[in-house]
Amino acid sequence: MKKIEQRALLCCVLALFLTAGLLVFLVKYVIDGGSWSSSAFNRHLYNSDGQLAVGTVLDRDGDILSSAENGVRIYYDNETVRKATLHAVGDLQGNIGTGALNAFADKLTGYNLINGAYDAGQGAELYLTIDARYNYEAYQALSGHAGTVAVYNYKTGEILCMVSAPSYDPLHVPADIETNPRYEGAYLNRFLSSTFTPGSVYKTVTLTAALEKIPDLMDRTWECTGSVDIGGETIICSGTHGQQDIGDAFANSCNVVFAQLAVELGADALREYTEEAGLTRSYSVSGLPTARGTFVWDDITDGELGWAGVGQGRDQVNPCALMCFMGAVADGGRAANPYLIEKTVSALGIPSLPRLFTGRTGRLIAAASAEALAEMMAENVEKTYGTGRFPNMDICAKSGTAEVGEGKTPHAWFTGFLRNEDAPYAFVVLVENGGGGSSVAGTVAGRVLDVMVNGY
Ligand SMILES: [Zn+2]
Repeated sequence: MKKIEQRALLCCVLALFLTAGLLVFLVKYVIDGGSWSSSAFNRHLYNSDGQLAVGTVLDRDGDILSSAENGVRIYYDNETVRKATLHAVGDLQGNIGTGALNAFADKLTGYNLINGAYDAGQGAELYLTIDARYNYEAYQALSGHAGTVAVYNYKTGEILCMVSAPSYDPLHVPADIETNPRYEGAYLNRFLSSTFTPGSVYKTVTLTAALEKIPDLMDRTWECTGSVDIGGETIICSGTHGQQDIGDAFANSCNVVFAQLAVELGADALREYTEEAGLTRSYSVSGLPTARGTFVWDDITDGELGWAGVGQGRDQVNPCALMCFMGAVADGGRAANPYLIEKTVSALGIPSLPRLFTGRTGRLIAAASAEALAEMMAENVEKTYGTGRFPNMDICAKSGTAEVGEGKTPHAWFTGFLRNEDAPYAFVVLVENGGGGSSVAGTVAGRVLDVMVNGY
C-alpha cells in the first residue's frame, strides 16, 4: 500500500512540473510569440538576404514608405524622402533597431496568437503617425547638420514629424558608413535614443521652480553686467543685459539671473522640478523606450549649481522627454503620451481597433505654473525671436545655445508649442554644432511648422 501511495505522490509531483512548465511556455508564448515568429530565422517571412519579405509601412495619409514586391523590399521612390523617413521606417540590415521594419516586425507580418504568421501572405499594412512631407521639410531644413526635429499633437499623442540626422539612403548604403565621421551615430534615432546638453531650454524648468518657490519673483529686478561670480566660478552671460525683470531675463536668456536663481532655489528643488517635468524618465513610444536624461545633483558646488540652472555642465536631456514637457506646459500640466503607430490593417483587410482612450503623461507641471510659463514663452517670441517668422501661429518657445566644449560650435535648440485650436503641436528642434538657438534651430522649426499650419 505504501508503495502505491509513494508512486501516486511522485505522479502528482511530475504532473505539477508539467503544468508549471506549460504555464511558463504559455505566458512566454503570449508575451514573446510575435518576436519569435518575426525572428529573422523564419524563412516564411524573410528573404535570403534577411530582409522582411512581407508587410507595408505607410505614412498617416497613405504614402507607401516601404513595401515588399515578390519578396524584395522596396522604398519610396524619392531619395530625400527615404533619408528623411529612414529612422521611422528602418533599414534592410536591421541596424536601426527602432525603425518600424525591425521594431514593429510582428505587426508587419500580421502575426496573431491564434494563426501565428503562417497565413501572412502579403503581410499587414502599418500606418505610421508621421507625414512623409513634414519629415521631408524637416530633413531639408537641417541642411546637412546632425540633429533631430520632432512635432507631435499634445492632445492626441500622434507624432507628426520625426527626423534624425545624419541619415542615409537605405537603398544605397554608403560604403564608408562605419568610418566616415559624417555618419557617426547614423543608426541612432536621436529623438528617441540620445541625450544632449540642454543649454538654455532648461531655463524653462529653473523658471518653473522659481515661479513656485520664490513668492516675490515677479516684483524683483536684476542687473546683468555680462557675468557673475558664484562660489569662485565665473558664470558668463551671452550679453550685457543691464537691469531686467524676470520676463526680460527669460526672453534675454540671461545666465546671470538664472544662475543666481538656481543657487537660491538649491539643488533639491531643482532635482524635484526636473523629475516632475519628466526629464529623467523614459517614455514608451509605441513600445520603444526613450533614453533617460541624466542630472547630477549630489555634492554639487554653488558654482556647478549655477551652471546647472542655465542648462550647462554635466546635465543631459532626451529630445522626446523635452517635447512631452512642452506639451504639458501647453495643455494645463499634462500631455498626451506620444505614439508612432496610427493603425494596422491585416492581410485580410481588417483594421486594428481604434484607440479608445488617450494615454496621458501624468502631471509634469502645476496648471497655474504652466499658464504663467506659457505666457512668458509667448513673450520670448514677441520680444526676442520675432513673431513674423511664425505666421498664423500662437507660438510659445524657448531657444537654447548649448556649449559643448571649447573650440566647438554650440548645439542649437528651439522648443515649445502652438496654442492654435486646430494645431495643438509641441515641437523640439536640435541642430548639433549648429550655432545660435533662435537663429538656426528657430529657423528649422519655423519652416516645418509653416508647412504644418499653413499648408504645402
Ligand atoms: Zn545677462
